[in-house]
Amino acid sequence: MTQALTPAEELRGVGLRVTAARVALLETVREGDHLGVDAITSGVRIRVGHISIQAVYDALHALTAAGLLRRIEPADSPARFERRVGDNHHHAVCRSCGAVADVDCATGQAPCLTPSDHHGFAIDEAEVIYWGLCPDCSTARSS
Ligand SMILES: [Zn+2]
Ligand SMILES: [Zn+2]
Repeated sequence: MTQALTPAEELRGVGLRVTAARVALLETVREGDHLGVDAITSGVRIRVGHISIQAVYDALHALTAAGLLRRIEPADSPARFERRVGDNHHHAVCRSCGAVADVDCATGQAPCLTPSDHHGFAIDEAEVIYWGLCPDCSTARSS
C-alpha cells in the first residue's frame, strides 16, 4: 500500500517535513538495490546538487527511525538501505563481492525460527542472513 504514495506523501504520513533532499533520498534508495551511504549520496547529489555526507546521514537516520527505510548491516560490511520495510524478509549476502539479494521469509512472520531455549525471553524476531557466493562469484571461482 505504501507503493502508491509519492515520497512527499510518505514523509507527511510519518510526520516528517518534506524537503528536496529527503524526497531525493527516498527516490534514490527506491531505484537502487540495497545501496550504501556513498551510492546514496551520489544519487541525491545528481537530483538536488550538493549535499554534505553528514546531511545524508542525518536524513537516513530520520527516515529509518520513521520506518520509511530499513537499514541492514551484514557483518564487516557498511550499512545498506532499502525501501522494502514492514515485512520479515531476509537477505542473502555474497562473501566475496558483498552483493545483497532479498529472500522472502519462509514462514512469512517473525520470529520465523523457534529458539531451542528462549531463556524466558519474549522473542519477537530472528535475524537471518544467508551467507555464500553470488552467481557471478561462484562462476568466477569454478572457472
Ligand atoms: Zn559475489
Ligand atoms: Zn531487502
